[in-house]
Amino acid sequence: MSQHESKDRPLWQRIPLYLQIAIALVIAVVVGVLLGAGNPNPNNVDTIKNLAIPCNLILKALKALATPLILLAVLHSFMTATIPGRSGRRLAILLLTNTLVAILIGLLVANVLQPGKWGSFGDAALSTGEVKKTLDPWGLLQDAVPASILQPLVDNNVIQLIVVALSFGIVLRALKSEQTAEGKTDYLPIQQLITILFEAVIRILHWVIALVPLAVFGIVASTVALKGFAPFKSLGAFIIAVLVALLLQSCYYLTRVYFGSWVKPKNFLIGGSDALFTAFSSASSTATMPITFEALIQKIGLRESSASLGALVGSNFNNDGTALYEAMSALFVAQVLNLNLSLPQQLIVILTSIVASVGAAGIPEAGLVTMTLVFTSVGLPTQYIALLVTVDWFLDRCRTAINVMGDMTVSALIDGKQRQSQAEELAIESIIEE
Ligand code: ASP
Repeated sequence: MSQHESKDRPLWQRIPLYLQIAIALVIAVVVGVLLGAGNPNPNNVDTIKNLAIPCNLILKALKALATPLILLAVLHSFMTATIPGRSGRRLAILLLTNTLVAILIGLLVANVLQPGKWGSFGDAALSTGEVKKTLDPWGLLQDAVPASILQPLVDNNVIQLIVVALSFGIVLRALKSEQTAEGKTDYLPIQQLITILFEAVIRILHWVIALVPLAVFGIVASTVALKGFAPFKSLGAFIIAVLVALLLQSCYYLTRVYFGSWVKPKNFLIGGSDALFTAFSSASSTATMPITFEALIQKIGLRESSASLGALVGSNFNNDGTALYEAMSALFVAQVLNLNLSLPQQLIVILTSIVASVGAAGIPEAGLVTMTLVFTSVGLPTQYIALLVTVDWFLDRCRTAINVMGDMTVSALIDGKQRQSQAEELAIESIIEE
């Protein structure tokens, strides 16, 4: 956007989103205190409850966008990502193990620190009983194939959605390579359609995200007014727990880099610092991608092929920080509501968090969208995501940095234990110069 254009926008829109949210938070706390700070006037209770309406609307919109976003993200990645034949398998295994470790770290930290027990939301109506859904492997299998292609989109069923998305993704990719080999281009309109629809969903998502400060204001003001500050104690604990888990995940990356590649962890961190800081400040791994790519080649010294696999392909599929966050959020809300997520239910959380992280686009707050699916899969009430919205602007930045660090790790591991020789480097340089 040109400077001139940005000057034409109203003042509020020129303030960065995180500042807008911070301002909304401060105003909300003041309004919440004025309205009673836990002891509201009984005559005002209904009006105060209505303050939560914008947040509920936004959550509904996020839920509605989640399934098309995942479907289009998977189809788009299958149609456009270039993965050289032999590396595909190794890459898939690396991505899956890293994501699994991230989720397990998230669940472990959430189970040990129990951030949801540090304060209660005091919502008796919702906190009674167990979460309804339990793991029934045969039921899961029977349910995996939808009754119709559109059903997973309507029901927000994540397992069915992934079956449909993968089937179409694999077939479309195969058709594309067959046609390319024959010099045909019939696949192009479909690829363009998918790309345009994907961009359209992301644009609508931006509209919804622009309203997040309003939602934060409403939900915080009404929560403070009705319940005081107790619910925020556990949110503070949640922030600490997520930071601890993300830190552990980064230690895991550094250990893998140390044992699995020629890059020294210290150089990995110093060389990648531009990318990590950009990820933190932009909250978007996609926006950071060119910087990640350049840091991997120029500053860390990886081969271009390894850098492109990790940074370009990884930024589509690999969102370990998001996966960790989604799993922790589900467990956190279950703890807050005194609902027990049994081990099988935590297994469902693992499964759906993998899907949700693959489907999360590399843009700010995308994890919040796909989180609705993780919650629905174990029967957790999605309205509690509303409270997470208040801290998401900060945690999003932290998990985005880990998403990018994950892509960098995959690149370093693919580059292997042997640094590229000078001859290789010179050969590449001469190709670039030509
Ligand atoms: N903001 C994250 C990213 O760009 C996605 C998320 O919201 O988790 O990687």
